Amino acid sequence: MRIVLLGPPGVGKGTQAKLVAAKHKLEKISTGDLLRAELANRTELGKLAEQYMRQGMLVPDDIVNKMVAEKIASLGPGAGFLLDGYPRTIAQAVALEAALQTLGANIDKVIAFQSDENTLLERIRGRAEIENRSDDDAQTALNRFRIYQQETAPLIDHYKKSDLLIEINASGDIETVNNLVEEALAG
Ligand code: AMP
Repeated sequence: MRIVLLGPPGVGKGTQAKLVAAKHKLEKISTGDLLRAELANRTELGKLAEQYMRQGMLVPDDIVNKMVAEKIASLGPGAGFLLDGYPRTIAQAVALEAALQTLGANIDKVIAFQSDENTLLERIRGRAEIENRSDDDAQTALNRFRIYQQETAPLIDHYKKSDLLIEINASGDIETVNNLVEEALAG
């Protein structure tokens, strides 16, 4: 099974990604986590990415595409995985399709989480207190919303066209949302 999780910042993608990956024994590929690891290790890639991440901007497509293509290739052709936070632009979706094609693989399902903006901002505020993420402050969070609307939301139509999309209301608690995800995956 190869799954893509889509959704605005604060929607709970990361939390659901962990639950789904553990239950279905899928490799979780989170570009945010991969980039934060590069940053923590002070690699060249990490230093470059930091400038964008600090402002809540997207790291350039070519950098992220290469990072994900390498990760997917390293898993081997038969591996199941779950993408959390990638693709985030149409160009990334196209690159992902190309990377999968070279492996003879494809995406099975795209789950798009939705919630209203107040709930999302509330969750981001809560996460900022717990995790101390530097990109969760109010201004950066708003930036990330704007970029989501501009760059990432068009992926919903992109995946609707290929009939892979399942939309889920993510306003409920973790368990409620997870039940919806499991129903969607079973269907
Ligand atoms: P996340 O943990 O998914 O919210 O990602 C944190 C930050 O990492 C984002 O605000 C971006 O700066 C960067 N990032 C993560 N995934 C991507 C991606 N697919 N494309 C570009 N930038 C990304």
